Order: sequence, then structure tokens, then C-alpha cells
Amino acid sequence: MSLLKDKNVLITGGSRGIGKGIVEVFAENGAQVGFTYHSSQQPADELVASLERNGSKAKAYKSDASEFEQAEKLIKEFIEDFGSIDVLVNNAGITKDNLLMRMTEDDFNQVIQTNLNSVFNLTKASLRPFLKQRSGSIINISSVVGLKGNPGQANYAASKSGIIGFTKSVALELGSRNVRSNVVAPGFIETEMTEKLEEKTVQTWRDAIPLKRGGTPHDVANTCLYLASNLSSYVTGQVLQVDGGMLT
Ligand code: NAP
Repeated sequence: MSLLKDKNVLITGGSRGIGKGIVEVFAENGAQVGFTYHSSQQPADELVASLERNGSKAKAYKSDASEFEQAEKLIKEFIEDFGSIDVLVNNAGITKDNLLMRMTEDDFNQVIQTNLNSVFNLTKASLRPFLKQRSGSIINISSVVGLKGNPGQANYAASKSGIIGFTKSVALELGSRNVRSNVVAPGFIETEMTEKLEEKTVQTWRDAIPLKRGGTPHDVANTCLYLASNLSSYVTGQVLQVDGGMLT
């Protein structure tokens, strides 16, 4: 399938986990793919090499999504390299879990800065090119935690709820220019982020999911593929849950 043929796509946090799944699925579907990483240079280089072996154009950028100036520089460089930007996936994210009683100001600020400010930074920096070409798809990775909250994740939940309000506002502001903005809210997806959890907790989560398994990065990537492609040309301002029915 070539649902993304000739589309230039930028994904933040593509070196591992869900972001890597999105990079792979988009490249398999004909996209030219740029992605960022923060510190995982070797996995990023290996991913680029494997995409190039399969005939895709790909490039990894070391860029901290939480820094506004780096985001502006990144979009400029991406457009120089690829010619235009058609799809932006804001995926980069971190957790710093703790009960509120023990959560430090730094834990709170770092999570908001990385998960929410990053979405503002990258969206703002790619706004002009999107408006000029009168097309674009912005896909922001939130979480079911942003819809329902979670004990020990007040910082993370706030960042992920914030993404939803931001995305809907952007959809309303940019709709008349044919720029779409949607959220994907994954449930429990088995990546390095969830490896930090105890096996007992993980099993409890799996048992509570109607589809009786954790999701894979490719489960999330396939929903992003729909939102990136023209199949979703009349879809904007929406939150698509990819959670095996967890939050129903
Ligand atoms: P992960 O395996 O920990 O990967 C996180 C990715 O984000 C890595 O590529 C990392 O780059 C990048 N990153 C972190 N901080 C960054 C920064 N400041 N600038 C640029 N890149 C940065 O996480 P994941 O599980 O794939 O999660 C991806 C997204 O899905 C996150 O937004 C997360 O909140 C969301 N999500 C995950 C789950 C889940 O169950 N896993 C559920 C709901 C939502 P480096 O490798 O260089 O560090």
C-alpha cells in the first residue's frame, strides 16, 4: 500500500517505542520520513539505515522537542532536506510518576515541558508552511490517562489532557485552510516506557482490557496512518482511542 506516497512526514521521538512504530509504518506506506530523538543516537542511526535499505528516504535529527528554538531550527532544516512538510506527529513524551504528596516541582515542570510545550513548539514552528500550502495533518499523541486521570501521574495526565484542548483549538483555527489536527490516545502499549512498571501491575492492566492484551506500537501507528492519509480527509478535532476497549 502507498497511502502516504510523496508525503513528507516529521515524527518527534522516533528512535524507539511507539514513535519508531509510526516511522516504520509510514515508510512502508511510501512516506519520506524525518524523525527526532533526544539521546538515543545509535538506535536512531540503525533505524535510518534499515529504512534506507528498504528504499525509503529517511533522516534522524537530534533535537529536544521541549526547546522552542530547537523546534524552529528543526522545521527549517526538515524543509531544506525534504522540500515541504505534509504531516507532523508529536509523539515525544516522558513520565516522572509519583504521588502528588511526593511529586517535586521539577517532576511536574519537566513532564509538562516535554509532553505539552513540545506540541506547542513543533506545531507553531510548522504553522506557516502548513498555512501556505493549504494542507497538512497534525497528529498529537495523548493518552487515555489524559481522559480519565491516573493516581501517581498528575503531571502526565495534565500534560496529556492539555494536548487534547490544544489540538481541538488548532483544529478550529486551521480548518478553513485545510489543516487538520487530531489526537491519538493510546491505552496500555508495551514499550520501554511501560517496561518500568512491575509485572504484577502489567498483568492487572492486561486482564482489565476487553481485548485481553497490551497494544503494540504498530497498533497505534496504524491509526496514525489513517489520520495522516487522505482516508481521513474529513476528520479533524477528534480523539481516537487505541486502547483495546480499556476506556469504554
Ligand atoms: P518511549 O519508549 O519511552 O519513547 C519515547 C520517545 O520520545 C523516544 O524516542 C525518546 O527519544 C523521545 N523523547 C523523549 N524526550 C524527548 C525530547 N525532549 N525531545 C525529543 N524526543 C524525546 O515511549 P513510548 O511508550 O513509545 O511513548 C511515546 C508516546 O506515546 C509518548 O508521548 C507517551 O506519553 C505516549 N503514550 C504511551 C503509552 C504506552 O503505554 N507506552 C500509552 C499512552 C501514551 P530518546 O530515545 O532519544 O530518549
